[in-house]
Amino acid sequence: MEQRTALVTGANKGIGYEIAKGLGSKGVKVWAAARSEERGKEAVEKLREEGVEVEFLQLDVTDEASIAAAVAQMQSLDILVNNAGIALADGGWNTSELTVATTRKVFETNVIGVVAVTNAFLPLLRKSEAPRIVNVSSEVGSFGFMTGDHEFAKMQGGAYAASKSALNMLTVSYAKEFKDTPIKINAMTPGYTKTDLNHNQGWRDPALSAKVAIDLSLLDETGPNGGFFQEGLEYHKDTTVPW
Ligand code: NAP
Repeated sequence: MEQRTALVTGANKGIGYEIAKGLGSKGVKVWAAARSEERGKEAVEKLREEGVEVEFLQLDVTDEASIAAAVAQMQSLDILVNNAGIALADGGWNTSELTVATTRKVFETNVIGVVAVTNAFLPLLRKSEAPRIVNVSSEVGSFGFMTGDHEFAKMQGGAYAASKSALNMLTVSYAKEFKDTPIKINAMTPGYTKTDLNHNQGWRDPALSAKVAIDLSLLDETGPNGGFFQEGLEYHKDTTVPW
């Protein structure tokens, strides 16, 4: 197989940066996508210093013109990692406190952005021998974790959790559509990770959290399609997350 090519959205920092770095270390050519040219190019410089074969791609997942321009720059694509995401709330995390503007913003990035990017890159992915799509979701998007006896059932998730549940259902729907094709699409949760998203309150190392996304990016033809996975989270034994 020829050298594989991956695109990681929101690759300029946090978990996305580590996914880009990890894929690069496995010999994948990476397109590190970021909405800010300045932040993206800075990250690309750092990734190159770490030995990653990487190109910068300007891509704001909420901007269709930016997505179209990014598609036009690429000749091939094997792996798409939909990592870009935001977690906004108004006041506390209570759903009753949410403004329409915040709710719209969160869904625009975490849900609609994934549809926009995935569908725009699908024609290129369909030309690949082993296309893989990884959606970076969250355990707070899991109904199984957020209800019943699970410890997460005590938490409020606001628009963020709802957006990740929607992303999970998109993953299921795409997987059904792709089941007789070489495309595999899966969702993963990184776990509570130390990044700007949670003001660095998370306890997991972003490089460790990136690992399951890297594994799902490199699945062989026997790998799963339409699953939701985690890796080594402290509070669960299984790698499969309930929807
Ligand atoms: P982060 O450090 O805040 O990184 C988020 C990335 O997304 C940044 O590169 C950001 O770019 C980018 N982004 C935001 N809006 C974008 C847009 N419209 N277009 C393109 N890029 C955009 O957070 P993170 O923790 O690494 O988050 C990565 C993913 O993991 C997210 O999907 C998040 O929901 C998920 N996740 C994180 C945790 C956690 O505990 N950290 C847990 C579960 C799931 P800028 O630098 O320009 O803002």
